[in-house]
Amino acid sequence: MENCVFCKIISGEFSTRKIYEDEFTLAFLDISKDVDGHILVVPKKHVKNILDCDSETLSRVMDTVKKVSNHLTQNCGYDGVNLLNASDESAGQTVFHLHIHIIPRKNSDGLECYPKLPGAKFELDDMLEKLKMM
Ligand code: AMP
Ligand code: ZN
Repeated sequence: MENCVFCKIISGEFSTRKIYEDEFTLAFLDISKDVDGHILVVPKKHVKNILDCDSETLSRVMDTVKKVSNHLTQNCGYDGVNLLNASDESAGQTVFHLHIHIIPRKNSDGLECYPKLPGAKFELDDMLEKLKMM
């Protein structure tokens, strides 16, 4: 898609630091340098985010997320990973081509990757009534 930075990376118009590639997905280093080893996994097909992603594409993305995560823990000295995704501006998405962030973790690395949340306003049973799907 025109004007999509990740489509330009996928087409080769923009260079990147590739970690893994297959027919349907690409994993590359995030340029932010906010933490060592921050990786993004994207589908080669342009989809905006998880809200407009078909199941086949999502499944391929998650297969690659698992492959890269296992590589980090089995071959690169990491113990675990955090997976992050923002879908929609309201959630903080800034690049509108679906991507899963992988943050490699080591025991006692002291990183705080889980968002600090403000505390719930409503009772759990009231939220259950509002949100349940069956
Ligand atoms: P989000 O805010 O969840 O949409 O994440 C977008 C991510 O894309 C940020 O972490 C950026 O650092 C990253 N990013 C933007 N442009 C590039 C690029 N050209 N190469 C690698 N990562 C990028
Ligand atoms: Zn795109």
